[in-house]
Amino acid sequence: MKMIAATNNSYKLAEIRAILKDKGIEVISLADAGLNIEIEENGDSFIENALIKAREIFRITGEAAIADDSGLEVDALKGQPGVRSARYSGEEGAERDKKNNEKLKKAMKDVPDDARGARFCSAIAAVFPQGKEITAEGYVYGKIGYEEKGEHGFGYDPLFIVDGCNGRTMAELDPEEKNRISHRANALKEFAKKLKPL
Ligand code: IMP
Repeated sequence: MKMIAATNNSYKLAEIRAILKDKGIEVISLADAGLNIEIEENGDSFIENALIKAREIFRITGEAAIADDSGLEVDALKGQPGVRSARYSGEEGAERDKKNNEKLKKAMKDVPDDARGARFCSAIAAVFPQGKEITAEGYVYGKIGYEEKGEHGFGYDPLFIVDGCNGRTMAELDPEEKNRISHRANALKEFAKKLKPL
């Protein structure tokens, strides 16, 4: 089966591709599909935003579409940055991840060790030509570090110390390891389970 992924984020695309390949699904990028669009994400939840993106790609192409909307929820910040994770610092472009991490570090500066819990969330939405829609969610739990560590991944990975990974941040896991345990992997596993009976 082929699906168009509704993302311009090359890291996300690579992760979705790698995880779904094992499940027999070929994932095509927006560029491969000849689309150069930015879809506005104005929903209040990850699921809503994922559905907005998948539905829009399906509306334009008529082909099966899959979207991920994801972000970081930090306990001490009452679930922020949440759906605003990409736009947390207000910065756009190449400096965005760096500025987001700087803002998060600052917000967490005085938060004690035992109150630094957080989770990454991923919502997957898929829309199929028969009009069928599937949504699924996945999480990975951890805590926010004091300094960035690691070179892999993207976004908040260097500040996210993953539960059960010997104190390593998500950015210290190699890509295969991240793709086994990540919020996106967990959401895509759930998605594949729901897809099977179809
Ligand atoms: P989206 O493109 O609106 O889904 O925004 C996702 C944002 O959440 C990204 O820009 C990152 O800041 C953050 N994020 C989502 N998934 C990850 C991940 O796997 N690692 C690190 N940050 C992530």
